[in-house]
Amino acid sequence: MAKVLILGAGISGHTAAQIAKRKLGDQHEVIVVSPNSNYQWVPSNIWVGIGLMTTEQVKFALAPVYKKLGIIYKQALALSVHPEGGGTHEKPYVSIQHISPEKQGEKEEVEYDYLINATGPKLNFAATEGLGPDKFTNSVCTYDHADHSWKNLQKAFEKMKNGEKQIFVIGTGHPMATCQGAAFEYILNIKAEISKRKLDHLAEMWWISNEYELGDFGMGGAYIRKNGYVTPTKIFTESILKENNIRWIKRAGVKKVEEGVIHFENLEGETHQLHFDFAMLIPAFAGSGMKAFDKGGAEITEKLFAPNGMMKVDADYTPKKYEDWKSSDWPSIYQSPAYANIYASGIAFAPPHGMSKPMINKNGLSITPTPPRTGMPSGVIGKIVAENVAHQIKTGKNDHPHKASMARMGAACIVSAGYGIRKGKAAVMTVFPIVPDWEKYPKWGRNINYTVGEVGLAGHWLKLILHYAFMYKAKAKPFWWLIPE
Ligand SMILES: Cc1cc2nc3c(=O)[nH]c(=O)nc-3n(C[C@H](O)[C@H](O)[C@H](O)COP(=O)(O)OP(=O)(O)OC[C@H]3O[C@@H](n4cnc5c(N)ncnc54)[C@H](O)[C@@H]3O)c2cc1C
Repeated sequence: MAKVLILGAGISGHTAAQIAKRKLGDQHEVIVVSPNSNYQWVPSNIWVGIGLMTTEQVKFALAPVYKKLGIIYKQALALSVHPEGGGTHEKPYVSIQHISPEKQGEKEEVEYDYLINATGPKLNFAATEGLGPDKFTNSVCTYDHADHSWKNLQKAFEKMKNGEKQIFVIGTGHPMATCQGAAFEYILNIKAEISKRKLDHLAEMWWISNEYELGDFGMGGAYIRKNGYVTPTKIFTESILKENNIRWIKRAGVKKVEEGVIHFENLEGETHQLHFDFAMLIPAFAGSGMKAFDKGGAEITEKLFAPNGMMKVDADYTPKKYEDWKSSDWPSIYQSPAYANIYASGIAFAPPHGMSKPMINKNGLSITPTPPRTGMPSGVIGKIVAENVAHQIKTGKNDHPHKASMARMGAACIVSAGYGIRKGKAAVMTVFPIVPDWEKYPKWGRNINYTVGEVGLAGHWLKLILHYAFMYKAKAKPFWWLIPE
């Protein structure tokens, strides 16, 4: 009997667990270790953050689903990986600390034959002084954060109802933050809620971003086909902001936040301030912070993880100039080069480099978005990693029939811009491939037939349908496997 240990029950880890168990059946063990007892459909947190969905609608308890599927679930935090075993263990193991009320604080060493690290991002608010829901800014990165954000937003709306002007600032809270799409979605939804309340005259709205040009989204921007024309995402994004009367500051590296004031540096190296009444800024992302040790107990964290804590996989990490970046640098099977039975999927894997051109100001500050790994690639990667592991266990072969390089995979992103069956709106963007490939597509960097963008009501419906479809799938309801990632 083989043991597959999956760390993290987010979009990537949960997908991997469902698929691994379905492929492997009862002859093998699938174990999931994750600290939050709930699954959350993160993309819908935006709607929690504007009070149009409750936290209950975007989450559900994992334990009953795992029980139904025959997956062993441990509500715990993974602390360290021991890929060579050691101590009393012949086999490799992961050291975990339980979080469930029954076992709170207990440590355990969980052996594995295959390990899938899907621990996602650590929300590194500490990397920016004054950032985060415990300090001066809001967040929508988790359902609790989004709920807290909604409470603060209501206070701002109340003040506006009493005739008080409010300044809203939404965007990135670190010079190298990613996930601009989520912040963009949030600002558009806030705007829609303000308009619904007929309070536009009392709202001053700012988009602040580390992007060199708007619409970069950490993927170096894109050329998209829209209404028969090819448009850069810069124009697409700027027109949406303009239409909504939202001003913007680009090339901004937020360094510090104080009550009501954001301090940022720009690419000229100047320091500026932006005042706010309500701010939601995305933090820097890091890896989960696990350590690694060899059989003798010596630390080998660097062997498994990049300096940002994300796991090294089959990518080409050789430092290269921007001009030399290649789409073939990107991984396709997500296997650790150091240990063949370890994989990293979703945000947990270390990208070889960015997709956006690195920009450094005269003070040496890099103001550059790091590459996103959105829900769709995170799910697809979780799936193929689980399929490869199941294949290896069942056949005894060490090959990888399933591959999913972000340089050969497309992604769809739906940026909600207002909620409602009749009045909802969303910008739908598809890119193919996610990582631009200027060798294969010298004109646009991507296949322009599949790289498109539209704004409209249909996009909102699609986003709503996806919410219910993915919650259905994650709950492992009948025929869940027919719903693609
Ligand atoms: C507000 C918001 C809106 C978004 N909207 C969209 C969208 O519309 N479309 C889209 O495609 N993408 C969207 N994204 C991005 C998408 O949510 C992520 O790409 C996706 O969640 C990444 O999946 P993941 O499994 O890698 O990480 P996560 O979903 O973050 O899961 C990580 C898991 O690991 C667990 N974990 C962490 N540390 C440990 C540890 N030490 N041990 C064990 N477990 C651990 C966590 O508790 C969690 O269960 C959005 C993101 C945000 C924040």
